[in-house]
Amino acid sequence: MEEFVREEAALPSAPGEDEHPALALANSAVALPGGHTADLLGTPARAEQWLARHELAPADAGLAEVCATQLRSLREQVRSLLASHVAGQPALPAAVAAVNEAMTRVPTTALLVWDEKTGPYRATPHPTTAIVEHALAAIAADAADLLTSPDAGRLTACASPPCNRFLVKHGRRQWCSTRCGDRARAARAYARRTTTD
Ligand SMILES: [Zn+2]
Repeated sequence: MEEFVREEAALPSAPGEDEHPALALANSAVALPGGHTADLLGTPARAEQWLARHELAPADAGLAEVCATQLRSLREQVRSLLASHVAGQPALPAAVAAVNEAMTRVPTTALLVWDEKTGPYRATPHPTTAIVEHALAAIAADAADLLTSPDAGRLTACASPPCNRFLVKHGRRQWCSTRCGDRARAARAYARRTTTD
């Protein structure tokens, strides 16, 4: 499993991921040839690295499994929205609701606390929860931006099975990476050879 995760980490970002963290989240569990999946959010430690790499949380955020689960759950909802958009189908209401919920749940400010001796001060009650909820809110807001921005028209699914990544198309390129493009061309050449023989 580790080696597949490393292999995926070596895959360059799909076009659009650098501009859109929601697209990066959607692409964070990659289906690889041979029926393997590399999940960059598979453990709390990996989820923490992923958030830090996308500048959505500090490197030492101290994520728990429940935080990684929240991220994986938002990922499924975002993937569902992207898939609906690419297919030109209506979105699942639950996916829209999940994105809106992530955007609005986040506390916008530190709370007022009153210490008996030292008096009033402001504090964030659960720092790790706040970090994760802010990250979820930022990703959800980006998903909403992506689906309503000019990039939405160029959103597509990688055309090289079994790859499950999404990308924002530039020109005619339908693949998320050179590796997927090469695999698709090789598959086409193989199909041509077997039909001619
Ligand atoms: Zn691909």
